[in-house]
Amino acid sequence: MNISVVIPLFNEDESLPELFSWIEKVMLENNYSYEIIAVDDGSKDKSWQVITTHAQKNPAIKGIRFQRNYGKSAALQVGFEAAQGDVVITMDADLQDSPDEIPELYKMISVDAYHLVSGWKKKRYDPLTKTIPTKLFNAATRYVSGIHNLHDFNCGLKAYQNKVVKNIEVYGEMHRYIPVIAKWAGFDKITEKAVQHQERKYGVTKFGIERFVNGLLDLMSITFVGKYGKRPMHLFGTLGVLSFFFGVLILVYLTVLKLIFSSEVSLTNRPSFYLAMLTVIVGTQLFVAGFLGELIARNGIERNTYSIGEKINL
Ligand code: UDP
Ligand code: MG
Repeated sequence: MNISVVIPLFNEDESLPELFSWIEKVMLENNYSYEIIAVDDGSKDKSWQVITTHAQKNPAIKGIRFQRNYGKSAALQVGFEAAQGDVVITMDADLQDSPDEIPELYKMISVDAYHLVSGWKKKRYDPLTKTIPTKLFNAATRYVSGIHNLHDFNCGLKAYQNKVVKNIEVYGEMHRYIPVIAKWAGFDKITEKAVQHQERKYGVTKFGIERFVNGLLDLMSITFVGKYGKRPMHLFGTLGVLSFFFGVLILVYLTVLKLIFSSEVSLTNRPSFYLAMLTVIVGTQLFVAGFLGELIARNGIERNTYSIGEKINL
């Protein structure tokens, strides 16, 4: 099979019929063998009915329905697990992404052999309250992830090689950082394609203002997990040792002043004394945090999970 289109959706019954027929049209025109995996993330409207009706008419349309709303990341993850196509394309259900981009994305993955191609909404049709923070986020993400060639990490329209989606895990609200997750898993042939973007035609956005707070926290966790997830002591231990010895240095200095130069000022009247106590205690605590992190990592079921590229004679 050439292409799997994975569509996470939550209360999008108005958009779905148009979306399905548009994708079908593109697939037919290009002679692709394909499947559409619609993941209904616990919709309360008629989305699931729409999916079943279309699935009866076209067996290439497949549906998975969550019992309740788990979020876009969960929907993507489940869609990824089911995807059979050589190229997996994700797309929002709200018609903001255009299925006409599919042939070019398919070519970039199958011919140019990119691991991941991310859509870039070069000209966006979203409110300013969303586009300005998004710019900051993308800059921060580029900086911490080292993926400098992406303008737009969180575009719903993306294309992947099948093995990429089978080797990454999208959880929580980490769908915002899939290129970062892919890079940590070793899939670093990542590029972008400027894509058409439209205003939401039906319904309303499913994410509120909390997206920015969650997004920032997630960016910190993903950087930490990616870099130090398998060796937490290296982060906490380094910080802890630095802090501890900084404190010890101050204490040595104060002791020398007191004992050798018989300074008149008492230790407790020196601000640096308190600073020394603070940094020694914080340092010890960081160190303990590192040990605890190691213990948890050692016992984690993921401790020996590595992303394997190829094998021979096995
Ligand atoms: N979505 C989902 N589960 C959720 C929230 C959103 O599956 O809990 C889907 C939604 O139906 C849409 C896509 O994720 O297909 C992007 O959501 P939306 O268009 O509301 O986000 P925005 O374009 O405002 O960033
Ligand atoms: Mg949208």
